Amino acid sequence: MSAENCNKVRIGLEIHVQLTSLKTKLFCGCSSDYKGEDPNTMVCPVCFGIPGALPVLNEKAVEFAVMVALALNSKISERMLFFRKNYYYPDMPKNFQISQYDQAGGVPLAVDGFLHIDVGKKRKKIRISRVHLEEDPGRLVHQGAIDTSPYTLVDYNRSGIALLEIVTDPDLDSPKEARVFLQKLRSILEHLGIFTGRLEGAMRCDANISLTGGTRVEVKNISSFKEVERALCFEIMRQKDLLQKDLAVKRETRHWDESRRITISLRTKEEEHDYRYFPEPDLVPIVVTKDFVEEVKEKMPELPEARVHRFVATYNLPKYDAEVLVSDKALADFFERSVKLYNRPKEVSNWMMSDLLRNLYENNLEITESKITPKHLVEMIRLIEEGVISGKIGKKILPEIVLTGRRPSQIIKENGLVKIASREALQDAVEKVFRENSKAVKDALTDENAVHYLVGQLMRATKGKADPQLANRIICEKLGSLKSKEKP
Ligand code: ZN
Ligand code: MN
Repeated sequence: MSAENCNKVRIGLEIHVQLTSLKTKLFCGCSSDYKGEDPNTMVCPVCFGIPGALPVLNEKAVEFAVMVALALNSKISERMLFFRKNYYYPDMPKNFQISQYDQAGGVPLAVDGFLHIDVGKKRKKIRISRVHLEEDPGRLVHQGAIDTSPYTLVDYNRSGIALLEIVTDPDLDSPKEARVFLQKLRSILEHLGIFTGRLEGAMRCDANISLTGGTRVEVKNISSFKEVERALCFEIMRQKDLLQKDLAVKRETRHWDESRRITISLRTKEEEHDYRYFPEPDLVPIVVTKDFVEEVKEKMPELPEARVHRFVATYNLPKYDAEVLVSDKALADFFERSVKLYNRPKEVSNWMMSDLLRNLYENNLEITESKITPKHLVEMIRLIEEGVISGKIGKKILPEIVLTGRRPSQIIKENGLVKIASREALQDAVEKVFRENSKAVKDALTDENAVHYLVGQLMRATKGKADPQLANRIICEKLGSLKSKEKP
């Protein structure tokens, strides 16, 4: 076997998604909007786990879960029970989590779904074995790294928040595929309106990774969307290294340490818990009728794949552009709002796909975190179209708009960036460029590249403000008159 064959990677994901659009928790009336609140202020006997307190199921949560199941092409179970998953952990005051179970008579909300992902030119089907509802435990806050923290605090505000657990089969072959899958999943959930992905901890991921010749390792607590690819790459490297040295990969659970960017061992299989699942006696069985599913189907909003098709059909965008924009709902919304203000979709898309996305990436911002609005972008494109500024200046001021949210026209006025589009205004700069680049001027009489160089120098001398076409014309004319002087 070649080295590559023996290291084929298989990845399965288990994703926990908070239904952040719900107003209340899964089994009580406590507010679910706990982000930024003081610790342990949004709790009641139910989510605090006081003995005798009784849970009541949030119907809207079932509706949201059914929506997700439909969007993931899953089979929805007609009748299901909640189960108690028993274990002791400080984030779980009642010593069990109310969850669903797929064995011993347990039926999860939905099974046998799938999602297609496009990686490069390849379309791949990723099977989704189950989707179920459960409650979020409280949040543990460690002082520094988990294995060296001198103490740990616990905040129960998160306790009882509605979670969807989505589990894939091990159909992903690389960290990149995992990222693409999660990006698509996130976009679907955001289009459904049940979830805001940029909230911290709203989408958490555990991953099972195995390499041929090794055993399966679970990496837990990949808390942010951006960390997944990084955590998986590290784990693959670690396992490859062991296998190459003929050492065994232990079957274990590892923790992704975001700050040190490594995985560390949490527990080996011997210590793994037996959860003693049994049906939750305080909740009645849930019956999801066909009528209920039909009602939910009617309410389903436009999903990403349909939106991509619409972007291609309505705005005449290349499929690639449409896919990039729709991969992030907020980006696609930004695009559509811009096009409403300025009906040249390709122009808007070009600016977004190149300069805007690069700026966001460089500043590690999502579009919703940046200060730019569709109004800003459209104003800037108009200023270029009307010849007030050059495209180059547009590129130059975009970072400032992204970071400060100041109006393009204001930035231009304050920095004197209006385009120089008259011959007279360019005259001095042209003379200077010819004086200071005498060798290039000589070359330019025979060499096209030297002409470009001179135009570049003129753009530089005017700090990008010269109208590039006019600059080119003036330089060529001046060279032309030099040529005719040389050959009398
Ligand atoms: Zn509560
Ligand atoms: Mn779970």
